[in-house]
Amino acid sequence: MRILQVSAELFPLLKTGGLADVAGALPIALMAAGQDARVLLPGFPAILAGVRDQAPVAEFTAPWGQERFGMRAGRIAIDGAAPILAYVIDAPALYDRPGNPYEDTTREPYGDNHRRFALLGWAAAQLAQGLDPAWQPEVVHAHDWHAGLAPAYLHFAQRAGAPRVGSVFTVHNLAYQGLSAPWNFADLGLPAAAFHMNGLEYHGQVSFMKGGLCFADRLTTVSPTYAREIQTPEQGFGLDGLLRLRGDVLTGILNAVDDQVWNPATDAALVQGYHTPEGRHMAGKARCKAVLQHQLGLAERPEAPLFILVSRLTEQKGLHLVLGGLDTLLAEGGQLALLGSGEAWLEEAFRERAAAAPRSVSVTVGYNETLAHQFFGGGDVTLVPSLFEPCGLTQMYGLKYGSLPLVRRVGGLADTVVDCTLEDMASGDATGFVFDRFDAANYGRALRRAFALYQRAPDWRRVRGNAMRRPADWATAAEQYIAVYRQALESAGT
Ligand code: ADP
Repeated sequence: MRILQVSAELFPLLKTGGLADVAGALPIALMAAGQDARVLLPGFPAILAGVRDQAPVAEFTAPWGQERFGMRAGRIAIDGAAPILAYVIDAPALYDRPGNPYEDTTREPYGDNHRRFALLGWAAAQLAQGLDPAWQPEVVHAHDWHAGLAPAYLHFAQRAGAPRVGSVFTVHNLAYQGLSAPWNFADLGLPAAAFHMNGLEYHGQVSFMKGGLCFADRLTTVSPTYAREIQTPEQGFGLDGLLRLRGDVLTGILNAVDDQVWNPATDAALVQGYHTPEGRHMAGKARCKAVLQHQLGLAERPEAPLFILVSRLTEQKGLHLVLGGLDTLLAEGGQLALLGSGEAWLEEAFRERAAAAPRSVSVTVGYNETLAHQFFGGGDVTLVPSLFEPCGLTQMYGLKYGSLPLVRRVGGLADTVVDCTLEDMASGDATGFVFDRFDAANYGRALRRAFALYQRAPDWRRVRGNAMRRPADWATAAEQYIAVYRQALESAGT
């Protein structure tokens, strides 16, 4: 099958969160499964700089009419895998800007985001309609609101007689919907009928997320539990009714871990690699911990459980629970190391705690891929106490690196971590610490459970072994996506 993945980010070229990891790993897994997968990306500077052997493919006119943009094609070289063939939209006026892909340097969304990302969906539809005569996708797979208009453009083009192409839309996080003012609709090049309750209209605004949810042949999200949760008013962000309506075409497919990037046995960011089974191959982890403690200015105490947090600093991630429970964590003899960036008040609150106890609390504000690997390598416990979590990747990296996840039972966290109950320890299923209610008492109990297990070294090693052995390969996820693509092809345009 010829499959076009449409995404705003792709690891290793550009990453602000888990979406990039998925966008980088899935095409490789699809190719390994014999599929003809390519990607389409906006021409952000980091992407243009990272795509090799670029050649112009064609020009096309923007949906708002006047402007013309170039489409380029090239290769993204990936260590240990076949290169990914990539289309890149050459539009420096829209994409060559300071800040992150979505916001300016003051963290305000760019005022013309509707144009910047409409162009992404539009370009996908152009490719589906033959912009590159040498390659035409049979299925377009759009990721998150940034690519949400691709299914809408395909839907209306097919109604106007264009060839049938299957469309799949994946929700990576329903909290970000790409809303904009209603007058922006005129720029999108869609028929008036699209600005409707059963289309892009959301309480008077334009919703790119609804473009994907209403018009894609098939919908997926990144874990089975999240697929159920988003159909409820509590977690549906106002879209639960629509998601229930489309529930029969919605599938939850759990993300996986890219073994080429995240593998403690081969990870070049670690001072010493390590792997299961058990004790004698795990010396590297102790060394990673000692080096990390030293590097962060923490007391170099091998016996102190080191809790790590690698996260965007937003309300979603439940960080006030971590702040609230920090006194207990320190009183029990633990250490906390945080790597993250985001909301200023959270950065400040954690910085204050680090200043007050620099030998026990370390806070690194910023984004640092290498350091993130070293955190998972050196950590004992990975904290992910999220309010909601579509899939979550950090707990999966924590599992694989033997830094046991402490998570709330929500979304993909519920699907990937098994609590250390006596029965699950006996059966060999336990892999971490899971709490239910989003409050200090429940979080505190999970913390105490982590300390209690840490005191029992043989049990800790056993659970760590379970965690590290948990399968999380992209081949399994790719098979599930391929099944969804087939369904999309069968139902395309019907
Ligand atoms: P989300 O997509 O909501 O941010 P995920 O857990 O799905 O959460 O993915 C987060 C990804 O971003 C992981 O790969 C994690 O390692 C990475 N990450 C988050 N914050 C940082 C940071 N400050 N430095 C390096 N990597 C980070």
